[in-house]
Amino acid sequence: MELVEYGKGEPVKYELDASNRLKNLMQLAAPMSVVDIQSAIERFEANNREAETYADSTGYDLIYQDKRYPPKAIFGMALSSILDDPIYSHHFTGGLGSECFKVLTRLKFEIVSKSGKSINEIETVLVEKPAKELTGTKRPIIIGEIPGFDIGHHFETRKEMMPSSFHRVWTSGIDGNGNEGTAAIVLSGGYSDDADYGDEIIYTGAGGNKDGKQISDQSWSQPGNAGLLTSMDQGLPVRVVRGHKHESERSPKSGYVYAGLYNVVDAWEEKGKEGFKICRFRLVFSDQNLEPKIAEPSLDYTKKPTERRTGTVLRIARDTEKSRQIKKLYAYQCQVCGTAIRTKSGFYAEGAHIKPVGRPHDGDDSVDNLLCLCPNHHVMFDKGMFAVADDYTLLGDAEGKLTVNSAHYINLENFSYHRITHGYD
Ligand SMILES: [Zn+2]
Repeated sequence: MELVEYGKGEPVKYELDASNRLKNLMQLAAPMSVVDIQSAIERFEANNREAETYADSTGYDLIYQDKRYPPKAIFGMALSSILDDPIYSHHFTGGLGSECFKVLTRLKFEIVSKSGKSINEIETVLVEKPAKELTGTKRPIIIGEIPGFDIGHHFETRKEMMPSSFHRVWTSGIDGNGNEGTAAIVLSGGYSDDADYGDEIIYTGAGGNKDGKQISDQSWSQPGNAGLLTSMDQGLPVRVVRGHKHESERSPKSGYVYAGLYNVVDAWEEKGKEGFKICRFRLVFSDQNLEPKIAEPSLDYTKKPTERRTGTVLRIARDTEKSRQIKKLYAYQCQVCGTAIRTKSGFYAEGAHIKPVGRPHDGDDSVDNLLCLCPNHHVMFDKGMFAVADDYTLLGDAEGKLTVNSAHYINLENFSYHRITHGYD
């Protein structure tokens, strides 16, 4: 069994069932994008329209630029490339209702039967689920964007959000837990205290609510609430969905509409109208939203904030798997001052890239380019108020030596880059 890592979140394992098929195909294919399919098509063409182990399609064709392609082979090639490991024909099934077709139609590729009939209606595919598919929270949680679901995506029912892990539970507005964070919330008008300013949402947590009335205290350890705290502390984005019962000009007239990714920036507790404790959160529209790949429908409820609210200055520490590793290695203690900040959801520290990952620096998101720092020292380091010499002596506004765990190899070129870009060398 091998580990695959991509983007955010925990490494994803290949899991094979008794007949050697991938059990968690949807999870493995989650990062697949239109570009992955397009480049698979290019490679297929370059390879004389052949893909190893894949036979010609019998029932259906994928249509791309007026040409026909075998959908399963193209999907398999794209997945092989994402996982950097060959995925063969026997690893998964194609055909109507298959997970392979689900992903392709979600990415807006047209699939037609050999008789010429289009199966492009995404619902057709989503409804025809294979029997005994994982249900509820047994499905993998997926944090962040899910390919094929752009802002403005309309769901007629909550049930439609479940097969793709977009929102895995329909009995609760929050899909998440304290360990992994919260993947998605649905605003459905259950709480009159909720406020929706478009780019900023005040949201009441889950628990103790019956028929719109609070009948007991809410708790920070309730999985959805704990998940929102984790999302806040780790800077993980939350998918926000507006339902037709939610009072907002942005709510759809029926069903549900995807409002995009938001970050949780604040959490506090209050006494609600009925006198019970409620957990409250402030969410702000996130700049982690991808540009929509398709034109947005110009309907009222999809309108995005027209102006950014001033006074909402965010400094969100983006968490990656690597930065979580580093923070765990140091038990969340700052490598400069030794502080580990205690929060309601555990300890908090930040993974600081020594050489910045953004352009033009293009540093690596790897442990040899990461430090575990408290927020103060993270800001000071990013702003160059201190730097680190090759023997770990602290320079500038910090004294002593950087604490470095013997298991933590740091590429000294990154320190040198940081010193040079901040005038130390
Ligand atoms: Zn510190």
